[in-house]
Amino acid sequence: MTRAVLEDGRRLRRRLTAAIIATVAVALLISNTVGLYLYREREVAAARQNLVELLNLMDAQSYYTDAEELLGQFHTAAPDKRLTLITAEGQVLGDTDVEDLETNHADRPEVVAAMEDGWGEATRHSETTGQTMLYVAKIFTDGNVGRVSMPLSSVNALVVPGILGFLAAAAAALILSWLLARRVAGQTAKPVEEAQEAVAQVDETLQSARSEFTANVTHELKTPLTSIKGFVEMMASGLVRPEDQKGCITMISVEVDRLISLIDDILQLSELEVVGATRPGEQTDVMAVVRDVAEFLQPAAAKVQVELTTGGLPCQAAISAGRLREVVLNLVENAVKYNRPGGTVTVGASCQEGWCILTVADTGIGIPEDSQGRVFERFYRVDKGRSRAQGGTGLGLAIVKHIVALYGGSITLTSTLGEGTTIVVKLPAAGSGPEET
Ligand code: ADP
Repeated sequence: MTRAVLEDGRRLRRRLTAAIIATVAVALLISNTVGLYLYREREVAAARQNLVELLNLMDAQSYYTDAEELLGQFHTAAPDKRLTLITAEGQVLGDTDVEDLETNHADRPEVVAAMEDGWGEATRHSETTGQTMLYVAKIFTDGNVGRVSMPLSSVNALVVPGILGFLAAAAAALILSWLLARRVAGQTAKPVEEAQEAVAQVDETLQSARSEFTANVTHELKTPLTSIKGFVEMMASGLVRPEDQKGCITMISVEVDRLISLIDDILQLSELEVVGATRPGEQTDVMAVVRDVAEFLQPAAAKVQVELTTGGLPCQAAISAGRLREVVLNLVENAVKYNRPGGTVTVGASCQEGWCILTVADTGIGIPEDSQGRVFERFYRVDKGRSRAQGGTGLGLAIVKHIVALYGGSITLTSTLGEGTTIVVKLPAAGSGPEET
């Protein structure tokens, strides 16, 4: 893979991994925070319930027992909790943990609430114990208020192992998701990297094909122009004898014709690249085009003593008449050009299972095996001199291949050096494609 693609792939993997880990981390943070909050709330509720039950128990005893004995019983039953007995006026009757009974408790929120509603509750920092306490107060049947309290730190102490458990689970989940994220990122990035690599390779191929094409075009244009310039300079210098001037002008005309056909072919190729294929409903009789082209090329064939014959049945191909003519003309022209005096060219058409088959067979010079795959490349010629001498541009078969591919057809070439060449073109028959809706 190219370095740029590798670097892009690495960046994509890193980003995907980071995105997955960040999502998992945020999800864990939210779920753990909510989980811990609910867990602590449950513990506080359990502690509160415990205090309520203790108060109910003390209330049941308060009727029979005096304050001091009640405090003693409470201390035995719940040594880690504190009971304060308060009169309706707020005076402290007794406290399991504190000796000082002077302070009036009438203003304590839990006591105020108990006086009003029967029950009261508060959480606040206690000056006496120096801790944040959970207070629950109840008005007893003897008219006093019983208040039970416990430090919230004991609830927190229960929650701490839970927090550690949550953290350990979160750490394990993060490690696991990191491993999974790396794998997922790798699997996701792979096809992207492969696609990028493919695009990079296509780009490279296109770039080099473009440069090669430009170099070829420049060369092909320069050759006739150099000849024209040479003839013009010779004539301008006065070195050409009057009787030779006509020959010079004929040579210039040949080179100009060569330039025109080269430019025509280049324009045609670029048009084929830009313009799309068929317009729906296009159809042309292959045999009619074959006969038309044969008639057109008959004089040229006769001139080089090549016999040109046609045969076959009418067959409607799904292609425009202009493009089909271009295909047939290029193939038959080549069959005549690369032939020998006394040779033959046979052009035929037939219909077969939804395909129109065009066959152009000649008994010409043939194409060497190693060139057979290359003759469809732009500007490729087996014998450059012969092609040029016969006005070839090296673009004919490239144009043919392009047109055939554009219309969904195929082309095959078989050739034996010194014996001849047969080219078979298959084009979809009209009406054989999917129905237009
Ligand atoms: P050109 O303008 O040179 O004919 P083409 O693209 O039509 O260009 O053909 C490419 C080359 O393939 C020709 O230069 C010639 O060498 C070879 N070729 C094409 N058709 C035939 C054929 N029927 N017999 C032998 N050689 C052929």
